[in-house]
Amino acid sequence: MNPFLIDLSQLPAEGKTLRGRQPADFFQIEAEDTTAGPLNHDLQVVREGDSLHVAGHLEADFTLQCGRCLARFPYRVDLDAYRAEIPLENDATIDLTETLREDILLALPNFPRCEDGNVEPRDCPAEGRFDSTPPADETGLPGAERGIWNALDQLK
Ligand SMILES: [Zn+2]
Repeated sequence: MNPFLIDLSQLPAEGKTLRGRQPADFFQIEAEDTTAGPLNHDLQVVREGDSLHVAGHLEADFTLQCGRCLARFPYRVDLDAYRAEIPLENDATIDLTETLREDILLALPNFPRCEDGNVEPRDCPAEGRFDSTPPADETGLPGAERGIWNALDQLK
């Protein structure tokens, strides 16, 4: 059962709380350089006129791969003031899954580096080694960057 499927006819005027935990496959990540843990969520969903307002807390632990030294490191997405507004157009139901998934994945660093780790901070052992290398562009993304974007592409 999808907890993020909102039946608007059943949504109380004062809104509804969606609190719980979804298994890691919620994120549907297939990239080899990114793995996700479960999603913890505590959201309030309220209809206001022609839009659905979602606010609350989203938290998930990921393992990313440093694009510089290729080490894997933990990274926590902790959105404690998450907000989303979804316009309604005669919808009977709204599925928040895609919105939540995409917003969380967008909170991951585009170019993961060891020093971005917010769980076990560490210096990248390869830092400085590639100072003469220009930043990667769209034509030559290192694998770690590609992984994130592939994961996002799969959402569409
Ligand atoms: Zn590194």
